[in-house]
Amino acid sequence: MIVLDIGGTKIAIARWYNGELQDRMQIPMPASEPEWKKAMQSLARQYPEKDRLGVAVTGSTDGRTIKAINRNVISFWNDYPLAEFLEGEWRCPVSLLNDAQAAAWGEFVENAKQHRNLMFVTLSTGVGGGLVLDGELRVGHLGLAGHVGHVSSAIKPLDGDRTCGCGRLNCLETVASGTALARQATSLAGHAVDAVSVFAGFRAKEDLAVKIVTNSALAVAQLIADTHATLGIEHVCIGGSVGLAPGMVDAILSAQQAQPPLFRVPVQTAILREDAGLIGVGHWISHLARND
Ligand SMILES: [Zn+2]
Repeated sequence: MIVLDIGGTKIAIARWYNGELQDRMQIPMPASEPEWKKAMQSLARQYPEKDRLGVAVTGSTDGRTIKAINRNVISFWNDYPLAEFLEGEWRCPVSLLNDAQAAAWGEFVENAKQHRNLMFVTLSTGVGGGLVLDGELRVGHLGLAGHVGHVSSAIKPLDGDRTCGCGRLNCLETVASGTALARQATSLAGHAVDAVSVFAGFRAKEDLAVKIVTNSALAVAQLIADTHATLGIEHVCIGGSVGLAPGMVDAILSAQQAQPPLFRVPVQTAILREDAGLIGVGHWISHLARND
C-alpha cells in the first residue's frame, strides 16, 4: 500500500510494508490548485499502486471530500472531491482520514494499545487532535471528532479576543498554535517575532516569551481537563512542531497543577513525531483490512 500525508505545509509519501514506512519522500505543499494537481500527478507516477492508497489529510473529511476548517491553511479546499481526484490519478481505491485522527490511531497502536482512551493533540501551524475511545478511533460526523483546536478556550489570547480562521471566537488554535504564539509575541513586543524565537526566549526565561508559552500551556491543560470531563480520557500524546519543542510538554504538566487532581490526565510526548500521519493511516487501513 502507498500512504500519503497532505498537510498545510508539506506532502509526504511512502510505501507501507509490514507495519513500516519505506522510500519516504517529502515535498512542500503547493499554494495553488493547478500546482498541487501537477505535484499529485508526478507522485502517482513515482509511487504506483494497485491495491489501495491511504491518505492522512488536514481538514474535515466525509471519506470522499475535504473541507479546510481554517481557510487560511489551504485556500482551495471547500468540499473538494479529493478521493475522486486521487482515484483518477492512481487508478485504485482511496481511503481518506483526518491527519490528527490518523496520528491518534498510530499513537494507540505504537503504545501497544495500553491506553484504550487516548487523545492526541498536535500543536503546530494550527491545532488538531484525535480521539481513541474504548479502543476505537472516533471519526465522527464529517470526520470532525477530536478537532480540539476549534474548542473555545476560556484562557484567552494575550493580544485580545480573536476570531479564528474557522469563524469561532478564541479557539484553542488562536492561543496555542505556532501561528498564535508568533502573533501574540509580535503584537506585544511591537516587532516581528516567529514561533521558534518565542521558544528560544522561553528557554532563556525571557519574561514575554515565558508569559506567552505559559498562557498557551494553561489553555492546553484546560482543554485536556474539559475533554476528560466530557469523554473520560486516560492518556494524552502531544505532537506537532510546537508540541515537540523542548519545554512544551513540561509547561503543560506544570499548567495541569492549576487543575484539581481528577483532571490531571497523564501527558507524554507523541512517539511518532513528524511521520505520525503516514504511520497512523498505514496502521488504520491495515486494521480495517483485518476486520473486513
Ligand atoms: Zn477555530
